[in-house]
Formats: sequence, C-alpha cells, structure tokens
Amino acid sequence: MAVLEIVKYPALILRSKTQAVEKIDDDIRKIVDDMIETMYADRGMGLAANQVSINKRIFIMDDSDEQNEPLCYINPEIVEQSGEIELNEGCLSFPGLYVKITRPNYVKVKALDRNGKEFIKEAEGYGAHCILHELDHLNGITFIDMLSPLKRKIAEKKLAKARKITL
Ligand SMILES: [Zn+2]
Repeated sequence: MAVLEIVKYPALILRSKTQAVEKIDDDIRKIVDDMIETMYADRGMGLAANQVSINKRIFIMDDSDEQNEPLCYINPEIVEQSGEIELNEGCLSFPGLYVKITRPNYVKVKALDRNGKEFIKEAEGYGAHCILHELDHLNGITFIDMLSPLKRKIAEKKLAKARKITL
C-alpha cells in the first residue's frame, strides 16, 4: 500500500466529475487500499478518488470512533435523503478550514464494495454529511460551493491565512 498525494484546492481535478468504475479488479482494489492508507495518514474521515488525482467514482469513509472500520463506496448513488442539519465540516483538500454546512440529516445510499457486491448504507448527522460531502467531490463539487458568495470569500481568506501558517 502507498500513501498518495492529496490535491489541494484550487486544483482543477476537484472541479471534474469522475467516471463510473466499469470493472472491479485488482487495480481498483489497489486504489482502494492506497486511498484507505492515505485517509488514515492524514486523519481524515473520508476521501474521494479525485482528491488523489484518480478520475473514478470511488470514495472511502470511516466514521467509527476507533477509526478502524474503513468502507469503500464504488459508483455510489443516493437512494433517499431527508431532514436538514447544520454541522462543521473540514476537508483534506482544504487543510485548516472548517465551515458550517447545511445538508440533509439522513441519507440512504447504495454502492458497490471492493468485491463488486452491492450494499446499502444509512447514515445520520455527521455520517450523512460525510457521505454527501464525498459524493459531491465525485461530482466536482467542494464544500465551499455550498456557501453564499460572502461566506465563501471569508472561507477563502481563512484558508489562505491557514496555509501561510503551515508553510
Ligand atoms: Zn472533502
């Protein structure tokens, strides 16, 4: 397994819609394993393939307390969503930035696992936000796209400031 490089905003690949996985083979499983290692190395809760420059509809997520239950979602689709809740979100492509985002409080998705088997996952609260955040990535949408123009400007300023500190 290998830790991949996470692309940072405003990299163009974060704006591109990813392509469906047609065949789940060892190459795809290697991508999944590398993405899991990368997510843990950066202490993330989720990671989408285009964040590591891979143009495929795959995301990884682990919202368990112990961070030992990674789940991969291949070709995910929303089956149902409801409610609304505002929660703090961060993103590995936006280091140092946390913003309040309003999204559904409940989501049901279907996806394929690393063996190509279909599964259904339901999530609430942070879990639902994380799934929808990662699904947005696969459609070329990042969390600051959810903000009003003014809040987005403030977020971009915060991001620039945070990067200066970490550089
Ligand atoms: Zn993200």
